[in-house]
Amino acid sequence: MIRELHEKLVKGEITSVELTEKYFDVIEKKNGELNAFLTLTKEEALEQAQFVDEKIKKGEKIDLIAGIPMALKDNMCMDGVRTTASSKILDNYIAPYDATVVRILKEKGAVILGKTNLDEFAMGSSTENSAYGVTRNPIDSERVAGGSSGGSAAAVAADMAVYTLGSDTGGSIRQPASFCGIVGLKPTYGRVSRHGLLAMASSLDQIGPFATSVEDAAIIFSRIACEDKKDATCAPSAEKNFEDYLNGDIKGKRIGVVKGHLDGLDEKIKKRFAEAVEKFESLGAEVKEIVLPHSKYSLSTYYIIMPCEVSSNLARLDGIRYGLSVDDQKDSKMGNLLETYLDTRRVGFGDEVKRRIMLGTYALSAGYYDAYYKKAQKVRALIRKDFEEAFKQVDFIFSPTAPEVAFKIGEKTTDPLKMYLSDIYTISANMAGVPAISFPIGTVKEDGKELPIGGQLMAAWFDEEGMLNAAHTFETN
Ligand code: GLN
Repeated sequence: MIRELHEKLVKGEITSVELTEKYFDVIEKKNGELNAFLTLTKEEALEQAQFVDEKIKKGEKIDLIAGIPMALKDNMCMDGVRTTASSKILDNYIAPYDATVVRILKEKGAVILGKTNLDEFAMGSSTENSAYGVTRNPIDSERVAGGSSGGSAAAVAADMAVYTLGSDTGGSIRQPASFCGIVGLKPTYGRVSRHGLLAMASSLDQIGPFATSVEDAAIIFSRIACEDKKDATCAPSAEKNFEDYLNGDIKGKRIGVVKGHLDGLDEKIKKRFAEAVEKFESLGAEVKEIVLPHSKYSLSTYYIIMPCEVSSNLARLDGIRYGLSVDDQKDSKMGNLLETYLDTRRVGFGDEVKRRIMLGTYALSAGYYDAYYKKAQKVRALIRKDFEEAFKQVDFIFSPTAPEVAFKIGEKTTDPLKMYLSDIYTISANMAGVPAISFPIGTVKEDGKELPIGGQLMAAWFDEEGMLNAAHTFETN
């Protein structure tokens, strides 16, 4: 889609301003029901579109993504624009700078339409934890769009943006992509700068694109991947246009399917997955069974490490430095600092965020640190080792993205553990830091609707090139 739009822009068949207005029209029509966008940046968008149009008129060369409308998950800072992370505690927070990814996009001429809904601070699998209401799935509005990047996924699926960015800590790009029938890419940890991304769990968070095709995801990824002095975990970049390496050939590639991974899986999803495996084989790939002995501990380890990092990262939201400040002591001269901290956090944070801060604070406290956090880190090292071994035997690992199709709104809100299981297939990629992509592999019929199922490919660290090519080959055949 991006290449075609680029051609149209360059040939003058459409202007970026017209294209941008068209997308705002769709947003106006659909956002009331879907609630994918929290903030629109119309003025900035049209200004950028006009700037790109002028460049084209002058015959200047423009980047592939110049003039093309997109949106950002609302946990990425955009200078001068409200950035809430879907939390009441940042309801009035205006970002004072651009996240690195936002800076890059702006420099390349991207037209940013606005900010999209998410689970508060990216904690959730359904975007029901947002302080600004749930995002509905464009395919069936009784169902969730997935989470935590539900707004970004729904925006692309409903054609309210050509592509969007999300963040993925345990599956938050891939699972909503699967639920909404689109492509979602979580790059290798460290390949895309996290500077300006409101941190959830810093050792797991990664920014990546949502798009309607693997090629588009590759185009966006190529542009946002870069080394960044402002993020010490950021790796040197390949400086490569990955979209130019999608050759459609996966003959001889070895794809691993993890032993035991499909036990207990819904029969309909199992069937679609088996068909996808056959398709890979028919395209010349060799599929074999592999073991990841410690992957069964991924979810439980994640729910120790992630809350520890959450409790530490969110400590900065104390009513003094950013956003909301609840000060009930206005009359007394000094006020009561502790009360301000406590009241601000009590009022500002939602239940899921509080639950994780409590879990993390507990697991990090003296006496429990060794038993929980340190042990979890050791298990994490074993999970990573499993992947090192596996990638000696295979090029990619294939699984369903999620154990289910998009579920009904409200179905899991009373049972956090049930919600956590939604990420059973996605979390280990974050634990190990490997890249992973979700792309549509079929649908199942429920309530008279064809609901999408995603397949997930994982690859060795920094092998986005091979992984994108495999997903692209599947998609285009
Ligand atoms: N659903 C997972 C969680 O609730 C993952 C979230 C994410 O990737 N941001 O933590």
